[in-house]
Amino acid sequence: MSALEMSPTTGVVVTGGGSGIGRACARALAEVGRPVSLWDLNGEGAAEAAASIAADCGVVTHSVGLDVTDRASVNDAVGAAREALGTIGGLVHAAGIVTAMDIDNLTEEIWDSVLGVNLRAEVFVVQALLGDLRSQEGAAIVGIGSIMSVVGNAAIPSYTASKHGVVGLTKSLANHLGPDGIRVNAVCPGYIETPMTAAMMDDPPSKAACVDKAPLGRVGTPTDIAKAVRFLMSDEAGFVTGTTLIVDGGVTSHD
Ligand code: NDP
Repeated sequence: MSALEMSPTTGVVVTGGGSGIGRACARALAEVGRPVSLWDLNGEGAAEAAASIAADCGVVTHSVGLDVTDRASVNDAVGAAREALGTIGGLVHAAGIVTAMDIDNLTEEIWDSVLGVNLRAEVFVVQALLGDLRSQEGAAIVGIGSIMSVVGNAAIPSYTASKHGVVGLTKSLANHLGPDGIRVNAVCPGYIETPMTAAMMDDPPSKAACVDKAPLGRVGTPTDIAKAVRFLMSDEAGFVTGTTLIVDGGVTSHD
């Protein structure tokens, strides 16, 4: 049976869908026939991505410019997405930010903003979608973690904590929502070329250091991550919940 036949056809909300990994996830899901609603602070990017995905994949797409930490905006967006897509049977939480500030310099503002987008927003977007997800067979959620979900980085305590939190949240939600038939998993990317990492990737020594850490000898593409997300969102992963799939070219496989 093909991946297409194994995928539900319900709509999927993709936060951070206007850029990088979220955008690639929306496209990968649309390629197997799933309508997608792209939510992003960058509303223009989300609208542009939605239009291009609709043209290339022939599915219904929808976009909203919003801050995922704003619960009123999220609640409005759920209604708009449901109306546009017909159903919502999935969520990919890919909106994320990183700010380098070690513990000597960390401010409450940085801590709250990073935890707010990367972790807290997933909680309340899921909560806003519960009615929709419970009503759809094969519903699934994927949170985007990071290799910083499993190792630590001295420069980014807030990001590291937020991404470890995504893994814990994944397990708790999987336990609570499993009886409703909703699967919850996390995908943890390694070094991926996106706007978030542009400064590092545009600096040859920094990029070479990323490549050197990966036994597969390259950095990743957003599509590398999107394929793993698409698998976890599909019925091919129908007995997979509460787990974390590290997609990092082997970066975390060695000391
Ligand atoms: P990008 O910066 O390319 O995309 C993230 C998107 O999220 C941007 O469009 C950004 O908008 C949006 N966003 C940020 N804050 C909010 C908010 N409050 N509300 C709505 N949207 C928001 O990054 P990536 O694609 O690289 O990252 C996607 C996810 O993958 C993140 O969770 C990141 O932590 C994770 N990740 C990335 C890795 C990498 O190497 N690239 C490695 C491991 C994990 P705007 O641009 O306007 O801020």
